[in-house]
Amino acid sequence: MPGRNHLYVPGPTNIPDSILSAMHVPMEDHRRPDFPDLVKPLLEDLKKIFQTQNGQCFIFPATGTAGWEIALNNTLSPGDKVLAYRFGQFSHLWIEMANRLGFDVEHEEIPWGEGVPLDRLEARLKADAKQDIKAVLICHNETATGVTSDLAGVRKALDAAGHSALFFVDGVSSIASIDFRMDEWGIDIGLAGSQKGFMLPAGLALLCFSQKALDTRQSAKSRRCFLDIQDQMTHNAGGYFPYTPSIPLLYGLRKSIDLLLGEGLPNVFARHQRLAEGVRRAVKAWGLELCARDPKWYSNTVSAIVVPQGYDARDVMHYAYHRYNLSLGAGLSEVMGKVFRIGHLGDLNELMLCSAIAGAEMAMRDTGIQVTPGSGIAAACEYWRETAPAVKLR
Ligand code: PLP
Repeated sequence: MPGRNHLYVPGPTNIPDSILSAMHVPMEDHRRPDFPDLVKPLLEDLKKIFQTQNGQCFIFPATGTAGWEIALNNTLSPGDKVLAYRFGQFSHLWIEMANRLGFDVEHEEIPWGEGVPLDRLEARLKADAKQDIKAVLICHNETATGVTSDLAGVRKALDAAGHSALFFVDGVSSIASIDFRMDEWGIDIGLAGSQKGFMLPAGLALLCFSQKALDTRQSAKSRRCFLDIQDQMTHNAGGYFPYTPSIPLLYGLRKSIDLLLGEGLPNVFARHQRLAEGVRRAVKAWGLELCARDPKWYSNTVSAIVVPQGYDARDVMHYAYHRYNLSLGAGLSEVMGKVFRIGHLGDLNELMLCSAIAGAEMAMRDTGIQVTPGSGIAAACEYWRETAPAVKLR
């Protein structure tokens, strides 16, 4: 097909040309004497993205899914109790993994479209007088439903209960796009993947451990080998890795961090908020609902849009892809066919997102959904015009 594919799945995201260029490097010796000049500042600067001074970052040649396993196996022993909430495909998969790895998983079913219920979390932690719960697993941004949970609120609940459970956060679709404060919110492990807010191909699991989480590795009896942080710590101390790293991805990560810090994290978060709000205005103008049930859950990185009864969201995706070369996110598992998703994270601006909104509108009409032509795109554009930063004319 002529022209570019319009990629609006919530990861992998669009990669800026400067990152593509940075990754276009000949291979080099990952044991050369000056390799640490690349690695050491990378691990240090990654801390700025996690907003931590006290934490320690890790770069694994893996994906977000491995990040879940790294968090669990490096800190816990088989049979340890963990508490989690299931409200979408990714929170579901982390729970499944914890079960398969032999932990004692207590989880609550939450309607898809909602997030972590802070009051019930606090009550459950208070009831755990013997502090049997060793870790709380929170999916910050549930990519399947477009729901963001309140991490500061989770920390408050832990503190209010005087509970010492470790606080693990899946930030795969939030970190580097939505505010994430490792130190301030007392997060013990934050984990991300390279293919979302970092604007890279998939292939890196990026993690940050608090000192408390690091210390627990000594007593954690879960078996681990490739994903053992101790091996990383030993080699990272000298600026190397325990195995062959993906060198293009490391150069890409260097560029990604430079872009994010160059824009300024507060500006990155504000941009995502503004772009997301434009999409929400479009959804409202179409007369449709988001899967997220309340504004307090709205995600600034992905919107899951519910199609009216009697229609199948897969048809919308089908028309979008085959007629307009537009990739929209699928509804997963329980919401399959009920929602389609627009990913609005990473390297993105207003006019790029216009293509997703216009294409979704066309594809919905092709499906028979009677949205008014131009309604969504007009609402988004007017919002973005009104909120666009002032520019000097001369
Ligand atoms: N967690 C969340 C919130 C995700 O959105 C994803 C992937 O989309 C994952 C975990 C799994 O990450 P990966 O596909 O990189 O293994």
